[in-house]
Amino acid sequence: MTKTEQTSTASRILPEMAGGLLHIDLAALASNWRTLRDNAGSAEASAVVKADAYGTGIEQAVPALAQAGCRTFFVAHLSEAIRVRAVAPEATIYVLNGLFPGTCSTYVEHDLRPVLGSFEEIEEWASFCRSQGGKREAAIHVDTGMNRLGLTVQQGLTLKDRAELKDFETALLMSHFVSAEESDNPLNIRQIEAFRAVRETLPGVRASLANSSGIFLKEKPHFDLVRPGYALYGGNPTPDHDNPMSPVAGLKARIVQLRWVEDDTVGYNARWLALGRRRIATLSIGYADGYPRSASARGKSGEELLAGQVLVAGHPCPFAGNVSMDLITVDVTDIPENEVRRGDTVTMIGGSLTIDEVGRRAGTIGYEILTNLGRRYARTYTESQG
Ligand SMILES: *Cc1c(COP(=O)(O)O)cnc(C)c1O
Repeated sequence: MTKTEQTSTASRILPEMAGGLLHIDLAALASNWRTLRDNAGSAEASAVVKADAYGTGIEQAVPALAQAGCRTFFVAHLSEAIRVRAVAPEATIYVLNGLFPGTCSTYVEHDLRPVLGSFEEIEEWASFCRSQGGKREAAIHVDTGMNRLGLTVQQGLTLKDRAELKDFETALLMSHFVSAEESDNPLNIRQIEAFRAVRETLPGVRASLANSSGIFLKEKPHFDLVRPGYALYGGNPTPDHDNPMSPVAGLKARIVQLRWVEDDTVGYNARWLALGRRRIATLSIGYADGYPRSASARGKSGEELLAGQVLVAGHPCPFAGNVSMDLITVDVTDIPENEVRRGDTVTMIGGSLTIDEVGRRAGTIGYEILTNLGRRYARTYTESQG
């Protein structure tokens, strides 16, 4: 329908023409949502689909989640919410980043709910509702420790006395964890207690605190609704334990060229040295595809470096040199020569190279790997079976 929608789905890139092949398993996405729902006790399980459903594609991910039974979605931006509405006509949709001045009528036009994070935003929404003569739903965000977005806890405790609350429907009270993936971090309990205190002043209002990792905390801070994002897409919400989720995203690249390099450097700025004769494969993917340049390998062949890896014919092979814009060079010397040929596909994300592991090797987190998944990949999807 719109230009943005076509670009975002990138459906015109055929696999044989693309440097990177991205596969999204919508059945695994749906199954991850059910796993999270089953771990959330009696709370409703929503889905966080901001940043184009963490890079997997709003237009594909949202219908798969809705079909699995998800009724409530969270995005960061109004523009994302409008895309969700186009594919989920019945869903409840919240916009996390708050109410930008002058946007109330856009919310109403698309039947969206803002997450109000300050008294100014609350006042703007309330006065819009008064002028329209209708009580519209919104969420209120209380900041219990992030110091980023939302009312302070002190302000939250005075909410019940504000006249504006009578002008709209507070459909949800929410807050967000600072470090739920660290299960022993004392901040978790402090945030749960602060959130509970605010909630007690607003009886009858539904409450939501847990992100993916929050769902798995031993305190079970599920309240009435949980808001998983990362775990839906296969990220590990319990980094100290095995991943209970199934992988959703798989990425392959192609070998463009193979060459022998002897006692010479590879790539920009000559940051990697082949000691003796090394066989180098050049892959058709680079940082312009969203693969982080911070996965570059700077050092010498044979050294253990915290840097990117790729699976070639099933074997892990280390990056060699700096990640370029459109290319990555890797050391395939240890793979039998006849097992590696021009045109072969290799695995960048998949198998032992989980999104968490790719993130770790790039000095970042799997979230950043997912949300940067490139627009010029040929994307294929496994349908979910409902
Ligand atoms: C992104 C986000 C989530 C989802 O967090 P994950 O760690 O990806 O599960 C939940 N709530 C808010 C407010 C968020 O911004």
